[in-house]
Amino acid sequence: MGAFDTLLRPGILAAARSDRMKQMSQRWAATERVVRRFVAGETLDDVLAAMRRELDDGLSVTVDHLGEDTTDEARAEAAVAAYVTLLEAMPTLGDRPPGSLEVSLKLTALGLRLPEHGSKIAEENARTITAAARRVGALVTVDAEDHTTVDERLAIVRSLRRDFPDVGTVLQAYLRRTEDDCAEFAASGARIRLCKGAYAEPPSVAYPDRRLVDESYLRCLRILMKGDGYPMVASHDPTMIEAASVLADEFDRAPDGWEHQMLYGIRTDEQRRLARSGARVRVYIPYGTEWYGYFVRRLAERPANVGFFLRALAG
Ligand code: FAD
Repeated sequence: MGAFDTLLRPGILAAARSDRMKQMSQRWAATERVVRRFVAGETLDDVLAAMRRELDDGLSVTVDHLGEDTTDEARAEAAVAAYVTLLEAMPTLGDRPPGSLEVSLKLTALGLRLPEHGSKIAEENARTITAAARRVGALVTVDAEDHTTVDERLAIVRSLRRDFPDVGTVLQAYLRRTEDDCAEFAASGARIRLCKGAYAEPPSVAYPDRRLVDESYLRCLRILMKGDGYPMVASHDPTMIEAASVLADEFDRAPDGWEHQMLYGIRTDEQRRLARSGARVRVYIPYGTEWYGYFVRRLAERPANVGFFLRALAG
């Protein structure tokens, strides 16, 4: 592990939880320019324009209305309303191939951490959004947050899938438990997005170094590709991208039986190259005013991003 991983990354991720840092950085005009590299904008019009661009280039999209860790029921309701408004606006994007429109939800934005009945409220809110998605032919995937939320999230996803079998979720290869979760969800035919994991986690639950995370990712990917579900390979890492094609061939998966996923603003040329080669590629597009936590996690993933950010502040 390099100095960035051991010394800087934990501090940057801790800043993701700091209200003071959040307030300070949201006041800097310079931050906005850098944030724009990773976030489509703050308004519905901004995200619809970004979606249209990606769709017109032959990519699929999944949209995240930014927000997390809500402890206020009214804010959770506002998040639901924002998703429903977004979904109801999707038909203005015109006829698109089936499955190309999706939203990604964070259960802590929908109330999971509310002091009372958080799990029940988050599930009801997710259900309202999923029903709205079904009305416009869009899919839903429930994002993964830190490890303390995994059991409740997977229980909610199992429950939602009884009524909406195509609701997907995310499994994080850095968690030691994830191979077992992959086996369960692959056997039940679920749509599963496999990512490495973006939160600061203790070694008791997560692999402490990148090599072990990468090995776990490859084991999990094999389970998903071999299983009965729909694997969504969320990684910008060339090794994982290549392994996905090799495993898809090994298990005779058709090109429409799995997909690549990448984040808005990261390796955009590679996204288009893969799409032109005939692979399915979905871009994760975040938008909204609550960009701070998302943005800090992107800084923590890559030393070069911190430099890019500091140069923008200086200029
Ligand atoms: P890495 O080894 O981190 O990166 C490989 C290469 O990709 C780097 O060398 C660089 O070229 C490029 N790269 C990676 N990150 C960046 C960056 N920030 N800026 C610029 N270049 C970069 N995590 C969760 O915990 N929960 C989720 O629900 C979740 N959803 C995700 C959805 C999608 C579609 C994607 C793509 C990722 C998601 N993640 C989520 C984040 C994920 O866990 C990783 O933190 C992130 O994708 C970086 O890991 P990597 O696999 O791309 O590989």
